[in-house]
This record gives sequence, C-alpha cells and structure tokens, in this order.
Amino acid sequence: MFIPYSCQQITDEDIAAVTAVLRSEYLTQGPAVAAFEQAFAVRHQVAHAIAVSNATAALHIGCLALGVGPDSRVWTTPNTFLASANCARYCGAAVDFVDIDPITRNISSAKLAHKLKAAEARGALPCVVIPVDFAGLPCDMREIRSLADRYGFKILQDASHAAGATYLDCPVGSAWADLTVFSFHAVKVVTTAEGGLLATQDAALAEKLRLLRSHGMTRDPAQMEQVPEGPWYYEQQELGFNYRLTDVQAALGTSQLARIDTLGIQRDALAQRYDQMLAELPLRLPARQADRQSAWHLYAVEIDAQRTSARRVDVFKQLRAAGLGVNVHYIPVHLQPYYARLGFRRGDFPAAEGYYDQALSIPLFPALTYAQQDQVVHLLGQALQDCA
Ligand SMILES: *Cc1c(COP(=O)(O)O)cnc(C)c1O
Repeated sequence: MFIPYSCQQITDEDIAAVTAVLRSEYLTQGPAVAAFEQAFAVRHQVAHAIAVSNATAALHIGCLALGVGPDSRVWTTPNTFLASANCARYCGAAVDFVDIDPITRNISSAKLAHKLKAAEARGALPCVVIPVDFAGLPCDMREIRSLADRYGFKILQDASHAAGATYLDCPVGSAWADLTVFSFHAVKVVTTAEGGLLATQDAALAEKLRLLRSHGMTRDPAQMEQVPEGPWYYEQQELGFNYRLTDVQAALGTSQLARIDTLGIQRDALAQRYDQMLAELPLRLPARQADRQSAWHLYAVEIDAQRTSARRVDVFKQLRAAGLGVNVHYIPVHLQPYYARLGFRRGDFPAAEGYYDQALSIPLFPALTYAQQDQVVHLLGQALQDCA
C-alpha cells in the first residue's frame, strides 16, 4: 500500500474532453483555451483570465506586466515554492522576504507593515509584493491592500494553492490583488497536467499579459502600431515568450473546473476529519479563519516540540517506510544556496524556519478514502510514539 500526499483525480469526462480535442482541428491556439479562460473567469468572478503554460511563467510575465525590472525590489514570503521568488530574479530585480505568521503560515501582514515603514525611511520600498496563499488559505488581503495603497506597491498574489478558495465571501482572484496567479500542476487542486493562469480585473494589464504570453506579438489590426501590409501581417511590440497553454490541456482544465466545488467540499470534509482525529496528538494543526475558506491543497501539521521529543526527520522516515507519501512544504526559500549567495542566512526569518523545522504534509486529495485516512492517523500516531 502506498498513499501519496497528493493525487490527481481524472474522470471519464476528463478523458472524453481531452480525446475530443485530440480528434479536432486544433491542438493549440484553438477554441479550447478561450473556453477554459472564460469558465475560469466566471467561476472566480474576474473580468480577465489569461491561461499560460505553468504558474512559473504566469509569475514571470505577471512581474513584467507590473513593471518589475533590474532596478526593482520584490518581496515575498519564505514559506513558498521557489517560483514565487525566482520570477522577480528573471526580471533582474532584487528579492527580499517578509516572515510568516506562525498561525496561518502566510506572510505576516504585521511584519509586512513594520518592514515597509523601515524601507520607506531608507527609500527602499518594493514595487511588487507577492503574498502566497499557503496550503490554500488566503492571505490577509484586506490589510495587504491597505498597505499597497499607502506605500504604492502592486500585489501579485500567488494563489497556486488556492483555486476555489474564498476571502470575505469573494473568490480568490476577484478582489484585493492587482493580479492573481493560479497553478494547474498535477498535484494542485485543479489540473491541466502543467498549466497556469493570471486573473485580473484590469483590462490594460490583461492586454499586456496576452502579448507577453505569445512573443509580444499581435494579429489584431486595432492594436497595431504600423499600418498592416496585408492580411498576413503580424506585429511584435514587446519582447515576449512562448508561454502558451495547449488546447489539450485547456480541455482537461475546463472539465476539471466543472467539479471544483465538489472537489473543494471533499477536501474540506477530509481536513475536518483530520482536525478531529489528530486533536489529541502532539501536533500543531492548520488554522481555520472565520473570514476565509481554504482550498485545502495541503494538510500540513507541525510536530509540537513542547509536547514530544519525536524528531521530524525520524517521523518522516518511519512514515515513508510504512508507505505514506508524506512531504515537507516548504524549505524556506532564503535558505537555498542560490539565495544564500545573495546574502540571506538562517536566522533571517525565524518564524518560517521554526515552522519548516517541524513541518510535515500528510496525504490529502479528494479520492482519499476514510479507511486510508484512518490508516494515516494510525501510522502517524504510532510514529510519534515510536520516535519519542
Ligand atoms: C506549484 C507552485 C508554483 C509553480 O507552479 P507551476 O505551475 O509548477 O509552475 C508557484 N508557486 C507556488 C506557491 C506553488 O505551489
């Protein structure tokens, strides 16, 4: 028996949708991408959705569209996947981090406020801040918005974990941020195998992103700088990329998106069951917040060192040996050798480091059965006992 930490759910409908595209005229740049963007925009209540090849590409062109360049500063959280910081480096910008709130494990809005104040005094404010909705729990977007308005930075929300999540009763991506990025990598809540998307209410930003997604090139005569030389004419206006999603992937995405509410309910029910069954163990469980609903991409616990001597590494090894695909999210980005060479070191962001030292992601995905979940709880309890 092996239970992974995450597992995609592919139905017969998904397979039929993909097969239909494979039998159609277009494998890419056909109608399926626009249909996926439209369905995503409706579900998340945004005016513009731009699908791209993956969320890393989305973060990259998101930074460019928001004006990030070699003279810019971009801030994010250390408790994230590498891409949330790398995107700014692609643009030549300087990256810095803001420590997390140990309860939500998201960027701390209080520490952000503090750091902005100090940066203002030095004349070193960031132009973009990238909050990340860790595990699917939305960040303190109201507080971050008010700081953005006060200090003049743009918000590029990395909601790679948070498709379908809500904050103050609005879908993530529909309000507060200037731009919101989603990932459809196979382990994420909704998948296109590889894929990403940028959501925005801003038409001008959306137009820029569509150019950057495809070589900086347009075929729309209404957008052109020069007079079209003929019906074949296309025009490159920016230095863009090939970051397009295929129609095959988009068809899978649209089919998956039709189930997003059910998938979210299943994940939430499993998370609630973990909350109850793990309550007596020496663990710190993921927080729930009354004003927001997590998408439950991950269920990450912390081994509570004040209540047990069990070490995370030993618990991890025992669970892996027992067939549980446990994982660790995330090694704080600033501790990576690449970022250490830029001057960061252990001790810079103690809350993210303290969380990381004890963190363990346990299996959570819609097809996880109650029997499997019981097994996870049993094995985890046993490992905590054996390793203490
Ligand atoms: C998965 C992930 C990404 C990158 O997504 P890809 O689609 O794999 O490029 C970025 N940020 C976070 C927080 C992620 O979890």
